[in-house]
Amino acid sequence: MQILDGNLVSQATKDELKIKVAQLVMEGKKVPHLAAILVGTNGASETYVGSKVRTCEEIGFKSTLIRLEETISEYKLLTAIEELNTDPDVDGILVQLPLPKHISDERVINTIDPTKDVDGFHPVSVGKMVQSLPTFVPATPHGIMLMLEHYKVETKGKHAVVIGRSNIVGRPMSILLSANSNPGNCTVTLCHSQTKNLKEICRGADIIVAALGRPEFVTADMVKEGAIVIDVGITRVDDPSKKRGYSLKGDVKFDEVSVRSSFITPVPGGVGPMTIAALMMNTYKACMAKN
Ligand code: NAP
Repeated sequence: MQILDGNLVSQATKDELKIKVAQLVMEGKKVPHLAAILVGTNGASETYVGSKVRTCEEIGFKSTLIRLEETISEYKLLTAIEELNTDPDVDGILVQLPLPKHISDERVINTIDPTKDVDGFHPVSVGKMVQSLPTFVPATPHGIMLMLEHYKVETKGKHAVVIGRSNIVGRPMSILLSANSNPGNCTVTLCHSQTKNLKEICRGADIIVAALGRPEFVTADMVKEGAIVIDVGITRVDDPSKKRGYSLKGDVKFDEVSVRSSFITPVPGGVGPMTIAALMMNTYKACMAKN
């Protein structure tokens, strides 16, 4: 069994970007600039945005964090996005999800200029991804593909089972794995809460991508010997033994599944850091399209 180490691969990606940014500075060119909007004070969102901003600093990107009140109107949020759309210094825009209930995710995502859509959620980006055209691929599935590529994990012809069909993880993951590419070229089954015989389907999988947000859902009896297991889940579970009061759990019961698998991602330290690295790659790409 080999651990797919997201910390290690993301560090290598960040180191490469650091060198590229230093080169831009030497040439007197503009460095990539990521603008992040955070609405409200959701603890997990604060953590995610915080680490995105810190990673920008680490690499040498410029970043702007715009904090807006939980009660902000949708109109005001859309106006803030439009200002970033027209700001020539801003290369990438991300709006941290989830948003408060009174705001439509769809309208927010559709307002972001597709050339600055570094999260890859805009319908234009999604459409291009489906057609395997160059575009911004959503950071989490993109990060997973980078990790598979780094470890030279053979995916061609394999049966991949993706659990979860969200627009940000499961669905794009199923598209990338089924594409005529490397990594890719899998036969994909996309499962969700209405899937019947999920255990049976998983037992037939060469690759399992668990992205459902149910801690330790995937157990050893669902995994065939030698399977490749990618755990996307991150759930905060109460844990009084921890100073912060919670621990992070993946969607896979790591201890028992890892002994059956050929490759597996840990939580934390697997998909999470790769998501941030992929976002940084998208931001660099957005900047270079103008540079
Ligand atoms: P989501 O929008 O809540 O989607 C969950 C999906 O899982 C839905 O498609 C749902 O089916 C399906 N599902 C729920 N319960 C199920 C069950 N018992 N059996 C089969 N399918 C089930 O979640 P998400 O945003 O994709 O995130 C999933 C997990 O990944 C969460 O833990 C999240 O925190 C984590 N995440 C991690 C990263 C990272 O960087 N590591 C990034 C993003 C998300 P229906 O469609 O039928 O409801």
